Amino acid sequence: MTGIDLHSHSTASDGTLTPGQLVERAYRNGARMLALTDHDTLSGIAEARVQARTRGIALVAGVEISVTWAGRTIHVLGLDVDADSPVLTAGLAGLRRERDARAVAIDEALARQGFPGALAGARSLARNPELVSRTHFARHLVAAGAAKDIDDVFQRYLSSGRPGHVEPHWASLEAAVSWILAAGGDAVLAHPGRYGLDEGRMWTLLARFLELGGVGLEICSASHPPGVERRLGDLASRLGLRGSQGSDFHDPDESRVDVGLAGSLPRGIDPVWQHWEVEA
Ligand code: AMP
Ligand code: MN
Ligand code: MN
Ligand code: MN
Repeated sequence: MTGIDLHSHSTASDGTLTPGQLVERAYRNGARMLALTDHDTLSGIAEARVQARTRGIALVAGVEISVTWAGRTIHVLGLDVDADSPVLTAGLAGLRRERDARAVAIDEALARQGFPGALAGARSLARNPELVSRTHFARHLVAAGAAKDIDDVFQRYLSSGRPGHVEPHWASLEAAVSWILAAGGDAVLAHPGRYGLDEGRMWTLLARFLELGGVGLEICSASHPPGVERRLGDLASRLGLRGSQGSDFHDPDESRVDVGLAGSLPRGIDPVWQHWEVEA
């Protein structure tokens, strides 16, 4: 199904377009349904909704929640949530406090690598003062000449095992899914092909996710390495999980796939959006 993009970022987190600009760009790219899924915040939803109404496209209130599972970071999308849910908003506020503490620790680690003032630089690029991500640090370090592009910064400094990496303590899988359910949303595992999990670990994760009330798998993601979609489609079919698709768009120059252009689910997969009643 084209014209449906259920994963995107705005200036409310580490995207570079405002929520309104993002929706406008999705509309121009032919989208008829867009989920705004900023990291650990819902603060862009209201603005996105205004622009979506103007253009007559369906805006799905969403969020991409940072989770620590079995010692690694995974991302869980809450889709079609109530953006005013007290349980969800309180949970996300706790994650943003964790982010702030981590940002200070990253600043110290980067200073030891010869890059003082990195947090100040990252903050100056973050449009939402409550949400500093590694992407902001990466953009700052590229501008400071520390690496040739964002990918290079992650490989040298920010990825797990690199000297600027600080182990985060995100939400548990249980907590993240329960917040999404409390907000009336659907929990979807984001870009499952990016976690480097072998078949056994993937199965363990998905079995637990299902048990907790997770319903979907992001089968089509622009951030996936090629060739994983078939495997994920098979897994979704065998486990009775619905499928989702998303561009994971952040920025016109940085992102491989533009917002609104999110690929199409393999045949035979039930789309996660099928039972929604989102306003167009
Ligand atoms: P954070 O949640 O602050 O740890 O930042 C995670 C974000 O960093 C992801 O959502 C991506 O936008 C970005 N990111 C992670 N790894 C890479 C990479 N290798 N290259 C470019 N961006 C990355
Ligand atoms: Mn991001
Ligand atoms: Mn992600
Ligand atoms: Mn994302």
